[in-house]
Amino acid sequence: MTDNTEADVTGAPAPQGKGDTGPKTIGGRKLKPSTLMMGHGYDPMLSEGSLKPPIFLTSTFVFPNAAAGKRHFEGVTGKRPGGAEGLVYSRFNGPNQEILEDRLALWEEAEDALAFSSGMSAIATLFLAMVKPGDTIVHSGPLYAATETLIGRILGKFGIKWLDFPAGATREEIDAVMTKARESGDVALVYLESPANPTNALVDVEAVAASRDAIFADLDVKPPIAIDNTFLGPLWAQPMRQGADIVVYSLTKYAGGHSDLVAGGVLGSKAQINTIRLMRNTIGTICDPNTAWMLLRSLETLELRMTRAGENAAKVCDFLNAHPKVDRVGYLGFLDQQGDARQADIYRRNCLGAGSTFSLYLKGGETEAFAFLDNLKIAKLAVSLGGTETLASHPAGMTHLSVPQERKDALGITDSLVRISIGVEDADDLIADFEAALDAI
Ligand SMILES: *Cc1c(COP(=O)(O)O)cnc(C)c1O
Repeated sequence: MTDNTEADVTGAPAPQGKGDTGPKTIGGRKLKPSTLMMGHGYDPMLSEGSLKPPIFLTSTFVFPNAAAGKRHFEGVTGKRPGGAEGLVYSRFNGPNQEILEDRLALWEEAEDALAFSSGMSAIATLFLAMVKPGDTIVHSGPLYAATETLIGRILGKFGIKWLDFPAGATREEIDAVMTKARESGDVALVYLESPANPTNALVDVEAVAASRDAIFADLDVKPPIAIDNTFLGPLWAQPMRQGADIVVYSLTKYAGGHSDLVAGGVLGSKAQINTIRLMRNTIGTICDPNTAWMLLRSLETLELRMTRAGENAAKVCDFLNAHPKVDRVGYLGFLDQQGDARQADIYRRNCLGAGSTFSLYLKGGETEAFAFLDNLKIAKLAVSLGGTETLASHPAGMTHLSVPQERKDALGITDSLVRISIGVEDADDLIADFEAALDAI
């Protein structure tokens, strides 16, 4: 959102300022996101001194005068660049969502951010803002299943085409797909997901950016690169540093972090975000104020939670990796020892941590996987990830049940695969739980 603390160029006072939203530096020191999550973007003095932001339950906002109302709508409808200068109507934005957006952007030093009602509504709004009939979306594969459905089955109905390359593709392989896409018409968007679910294969974002820049070198406006950073962001991967233009989140996962809300986010430059904002304003895919408030609470502990979950996952994976009933652990921290030089190289260049979601391949098949899952006492049997509690699921029988066998084989979705998201419990308690469940197979 625009900073309203200064009067606008016409000299009229900014009508709904955000007040004093706190310093971002002290004595030349740039404050870290973990510090800024407690206060940035909110002035208690505008809310009766309330330390925490109230939840603003209102559908509309009062204009100080008619001219200000007109200026607002010129901003909202794109007649005047820069978007709205204050709050107008709750389908467009509200105080809680604005604070959330300001704080979300800080984690990846993005110019701006948008909050959405779910990860999928964020992705759908991004796509709708970018594509027209006949365009091609180039994407890495596999993608989150609903994203694949959205591109293939839903946008496909409106004449949008797609071409994909495997997540681990080399520069040459990416170049070949980009070239083919360009020959087929306008490329609207390059869309990535890294690590891919459930293979954990990392996308070489630097190679994708270099390929896009080379293949579309003669165009003034090159297709933007968007990436779903739900699994590693914002602590363990910040792909805008490797050349991505737009970062997408399911805030339902690590950002929300308590398995008690559904929301999404998009980060990027002001120009890209304003294009997406126009679509969100039109279709109303913003999150509600209560969810935004819960996310503000979540973001205060984001670094603590993710750090602890990452440390726990490293300990648990070491234990599992050495267990005789375990065939293989698909954990980013093991890329080096598993001898995958190319993936290990991408990991070193693109990642800041191995995350806490991984694939566990047990020896055996469905019987062994089910016995393991049914004997877990601390870990809960549920899909999703990134919460304070440890979750385990069986992709072949759950999230990927309807995927054809051939594709399951290609993705490594075997009957013995268990997906695990480690939480913030005591690591040794978790190891005891996994050990007892393995014993029970
Ligand atoms: C969960 C998830 C989504 C979808 O997010 P929702 O909040 O469930 O709509 C998208 N991408 C990835 C990688 C996810 O894990």
